[in-house]
Amino acid sequence: MSEEKQVKVHVDKVNKSYGSNHVLRDISLDVDANEVVVMIGPSGSGKSTFLRMLNQLEVPNSGTIVVDGHNISDKKTDINKVRENIGMVFQNFNLFNNYTVLENITLAPVQLGKMTKQEAEKRGRELLETVGLADKADVSVNSLSGGQKQRIAIARALAMDPDVMLFDEPTSALDPEMVGDVLDVMKDLAKSGMTMIIVTHEMGFAKQVADRVVFFESGKIQESGTPEEIFNAPKNARLQEFLSKVM
Ligand code: ADP
Ligand code: MG
Repeated sequence: MSEEKQVKVHVDKVNKSYGSNHVLRDISLDVDANEVVVMIGPSGSGKSTFLRMLNQLEVPNSGTIVVDGHNISDKKTDINKVRENIGMVFQNFNLFNNYTVLENITLAPVQLGKMTKQEAEKRGRELLETVGLADKADVSVNSLSGGQKQRIAIARALAMDPDVMLFDEPTSALDPEMVGDVLDVMKDLAKSGMTMIIVTHEMGFAKQVADRVVFFESGKIQESGTPEEIFNAPKNARLQEFLSKVM
């Protein structure tokens, strides 16, 4: 076994503008296999745009993005194949509300020919077990709480057996009493060795789970470091100000 670190996500000097709004400014970031990177920063600083670029939901104006060895900036790359290996969890779940829980989880792997329906259902039930919702397989998503929906959304993303998981404020739309269950599922996932990039305002979670914390502000990475460095000894004045507001 090689001891060398494997770079899962390589971002080099990426820029993104919407009209005259220069949203991402020369962003560079490498994420290693099994690493958990938490992105923090004020609203409008470009965190979502950055995450969405990693699976080409947004296309950068310049720069290079390589995910799992695939250069997604290259027009010849089959982005759908790359996306199959990137799980994404959004603030508002994006589930199919009129389908059952198990249907939501099995849809993509079956449609994309990754598994038979039977295999996908078996795997789906295992995943429901790991997110603590084994008894919900056959109910309609409509009937679930926000916290349950988000755990289903995580299970659905995992059903594709992704190499990287992206989370964009997964607990921001939840009632406070639901947040812990979702964060617990994410903690377990981190422990299992999943490569994760997480945008969150949950600073306690970031301290506990992140290998590295990245502070976004005005479309730039202003500072990055271990949770100890970022939370206990922040250097950047804007980071200090941000933390004084959120902690
Ligand atoms: P964050 O996730 O940190 O709150 P975003 O990445 O959502 O920040 O937004 C960064 C900036 O880009 C904001 O000024 C926002 O208004 C702008 N923006 C985001 N998406 C779009 C879009 N689709 N069209 C135009 N402007 C956008
Ligand atoms: Mg956002």
